[in-house]
Amino acid sequence: MASPSPASLALIKRAEICLQNIAQRNNTLKTFITLKPADQIRNEVRQLAPLNSSGHGLQGRVISLKDNFCTTDMPTTCASKVLKDYMSPFESTAGRLLRNAGAVVAGKVNMDEFAMGSNNNHTYFGTALNPLFPDTEASAGGSSGGSAASVAADMCDVSLGTDTGGSVRLPGAYCGVFGFKPSYGMISRHGVIAYAQSLDTVGIVAKNVPLIETTFDVLNQYDEADPTSISPVVRQKIANMDQKDVAKDKLRIGIMKEAIIDLSPEVREAWINALDYLQSLGHEVSVVSVPSLKHSLPAYFIISPAEASSNLARYDGVRYGFRADVDRDETGNLYAPTRTAAFGKEVQRRILLGTYNLSAGAYGNHFEKAQKVRRIILDEFNDIFATPNVLYDTPGCPSGVDVLIHPTSRTTAPTHEEIKQNTNVTDSYINDVLTVSANLAGLPAISAPWGKGQDTVGIQVYSQFGNDKLILDVAKLLDQAPINK
Ligand code: GLN
Repeated sequence: MASPSPASLALIKRAEICLQNIAQRNNTLKTFITLKPADQIRNEVRQLAPLNSSGHGLQGRVISLKDNFCTTDMPTTCASKVLKDYMSPFESTAGRLLRNAGAVVAGKVNMDEFAMGSNNNHTYFGTALNPLFPDTEASAGGSSGGSAASVAADMCDVSLGTDTGGSVRLPGAYCGVFGFKPSYGMISRHGVIAYAQSLDTVGIVAKNVPLIETTFDVLNQYDEADPTSISPVVRQKIANMDQKDVAKDKLRIGIMKEAIIDLSPEVREAWINALDYLQSLGHEVSVVSVPSLKHSLPAYFIISPAEASSNLARYDGVRYGFRADVDRDETGNLYAPTRTAAFGKEVQRRILLGTYNLSAGAYGNHFEKAQKVRRIILDEFNDIFATPNVLYDTPGCPSGVDVLIHPTSRTTAPTHEEIKQNTNVTDSYINDVLTVSANLAGLPAISAPWGKGQDTVGIQVYSQFGNDKLILDVAKLLDQAPINK
């Protein structure tokens, strides 16, 4: 074998740093649910890194996968007791593509059970903690808390998570890393265990935008195994779209009036500073309105549990994984003992909520209305963006905005003590108010860190369907601000 280039040696050295961080911090932070043996990771990197003479690409890079990506060499638990020993007979397309690109999967990372939650505290394997706060037990965010923590703690370079209502962006914001949710259907969901399939998106977490781009380049392709994968025809339409060049063109940045909500002072200040900075580069900021945004949270919390209740019906103790010792409950029900013992409280709550909203009595008043609200929100976004929506052949608004910018969350990472004090369940749902609309409308969105360390605030950039490249470019601009140097 030819002797490794300096770039390949740097990859091997980098992998050792990741392994060291895993060894030192994983037990406390509870980042990984399943970890490959260190020697196996080391050997894989040593074999692959020398093939990457440039240091670019994913060859020889250590990555992690959220534990809802099916793998054949490790269990896929969804952080649930019901799947605690589940071995999938097949692998997710996304995981396979990354492995084929030479990435080395170190293991499967912690998450909220079946991706339901915002603080990675609803997990069978113990709450994942935020590595930025070694002295307090702070939220890593959820549901992809392990993904963001694994990157923030330099246990790996890239992590795949899923984002149904903000689950890649919120942990990204709390842990001070980039969390990117592409347009719906860009990355295959084949082999990714569903929470709410009309909203679920594979997302990418990394410490810098170029790594996100490299990963997205590998994953951004049609997959016939995923019926919701964006077709080659639509992909071509996207490729033909006029794209702004952020280095030369003046961007029109919108701030949604409805996103001006009760924010913590540091979050508000970061938002203002980020906008000031972009203005100082010559971009233009204006206030726009998406009047139905205020209905996005109720719509999301009707649609997502409804889909979840149907998706999770398959975990009945007969076909998959865990089965309770008691065969039937006192009414003769076969499934109840298993489902009661195997699902955590939050998952049970959402199954009940979703089943209720799909019931004959509630369907028209709840589920159908939520679907209508979803469509109205989409129409309102289409009215304010300059770019047409290629999925619906809308004309685009000539005086419209290119991107929307607002914070990812109302506060920085709360401590678990604070989270426990808040016993009102719906209160904990309110935090998703700034993220769910992108999922309802299928839009690309990224949370970019603003500031350093514990003071980092997540600034969110999103745009019209298909404008994934544009928001990545804007995230790069934000990253170049003096405060992030
Ligand atoms: N926090 C949201 C929820 O609990 C989002 C979850 C997600 O994106 N997977 O549903």
